[in-house]
Amino acid sequence: MSIKSFHPPQRILMGPGPSDVSPRVLEALSRPTIGHLDPVFVSLMDEMKVLLKYAFQTGNELTMPVSAPGSAGMETCFVNLVEPGDKVIVCQNGVFGARMKENVERCGGIAVMVQDDWGRAVDPQKLEDALKANPDTRVVAFVHAETSTGAQSDAQTLVAIAHKYHCLTIVDAITSLGGTPLKVDEWNIDAVYSGTQKCLSCTPGLSPVSFSAQAQEKIKNRKTKVQSWFMDLNLVMGYWGGATKRAYHHTAPINALYGLHEALVILQEEGLQNAWARHQKNHLALRAGMEAMGLKFVVPEHERLPQLNAISVPEGVDEAAVRTILLSDYNLEIGAGLGAMAGKVWRIGLMGHASNPRNVRLCLGALDDVLGRLNAPIHHGVAVDAANQQLVD
Ligand SMILES: *Cc1c(COP(=O)(O)O)cnc(C)c1O
Repeated sequence: MSIKSFHPPQRILMGPGPSDVSPRVLEALSRPTIGHLDPVFVSLMDEMKVLLKYAFQTGNELTMPVSAPGSAGMETCFVNLVEPGDKVIVCQNGVFGARMKENVERCGGIAVMVQDDWGRAVDPQKLEDALKANPDTRVVAFVHAETSTGAQSDAQTLVAIAHKYHCLTIVDAITSLGGTPLKVDEWNIDAVYSGTQKCLSCTPGLSPVSFSAQAQEKIKNRKTKVQSWFMDLNLVMGYWGGATKRAYHHTAPINALYGLHEALVILQEEGLQNAWARHQKNHLALRAGMEAMGLKFVVPEHERLPQLNAISVPEGVDEAAVRTILLSDYNLEIGAGLGAMAGKVWRIGLMGHASNPRNVRLCLGALDDVLGRLNAPIHHGVAVDAANQQLVD
C-alpha cells in the first residue's frame, strides 16, 4: 500500500465555520518554523497581543490566543473563573449555551439555566429575574452570536445587568469577532473567548481570549487550584505575560500563530468598522436575493447576525439533498441545522474573507438552480438581480 499526499478540493466555505481562508494566511502558515522561545518569535507574540487587543477593542493586558480551538477558549474562561460551589447563570438560546452548562458543572459549579427560544436573542428581563431569584450568583455567561441559530444578543445590556448584581461575565464571541460590533472595554465584558475560523478567516485551532482586571483579580484570589493544568492562566501567563521572562509552558503552535498574525494584520488594514460594514452590506444583498426567491429567515430582522443567515427550508424539500448537490456541482458548502433545527434550516455563512459580493451571487444563483431541479416552490431567476440592486453602491 502506498498512501499519497493529501490534496483537498478547492471549496467555497459558506457554512457556520470554517470560512474561506485568505491566501495570505495560507502563505504565512508555510513560512519557516522557528523556536517558540526565539527572540524573533517572542516579538511576534508581542505584536499578536497588540493586534488582538485591537480586534477585541480592549486594553486588557491578559489578551492572547489559547493554543487550541474555540471550545478550549470557552473552557479556559470557565475553569479559571468558576470554583466548586459557585453559582453561574447561563442564558441559553441555542446549542452553545448547553456546552456552557456542561463546563460549569464539570468545574463543580451550580448552573442556573435561563432559556430563550432558539432563533431569538437572549431576553435581558429573564436574566434580571433570574439574578433577583438567585442573589448568590457569581458569574453570568451567554453567547453573543449564536452560530447555531443566527441570533445576536445585546451583550452590552446583558453585561450591565450582570454587573448590577455584582457578577462577572463570560461572553462567547466566537462568531462575532471581526464580523459584527464587539467592544470588550466599552461593554465591560470580564472574560471573552473567540475562534479563528469564523470572521477572522484563519485556519481553525486557536482561540483568542481576553480577561478584565476584575476577572484577573478573581483568578489570583481563587481558593482552589484551577483543575486544568494546561488552561491555568496563572501558568500560561509565564509564557505569554508581558513583563515576565518567557518560560516554557507548552510549545506554541508556531506556524498557526503566523497565520493568525497575518489574519489580524488583514483585519487591521481593512479597519474593524469597515469589516463590520462589509459583513452587513453582503448580508443585506443575500437577504434581498433570498426574499426575492420567497425564502424566509428564521431570526426576526432586528436580532439577525449578518455573518450567519439561518434560512427555513421550504415545505417538501430534502435539505440534505440540496447541500449535497451544492457541494458536488458548485464546490459550495453551506451548513445544516443543529439540534432542534436539524432538517429545518440551512445556515449560510458570510464570514470574513468569504463575505464578498461574488459569494453572495454564487450562492443565490446556485440555490436557484438546485431548488429548481428539485421542483421546490420558489420564484426563479430573480434572486441574483435582487442582490445586485443592493450591491450597486
Ligand atoms: C464555532 C463555535 C464554537 C466552537 O468553536 P470550535 O473552534 O469548534 O471549538 C463555540 N461557540 C460558538 C458560538 C461557535 O460558533
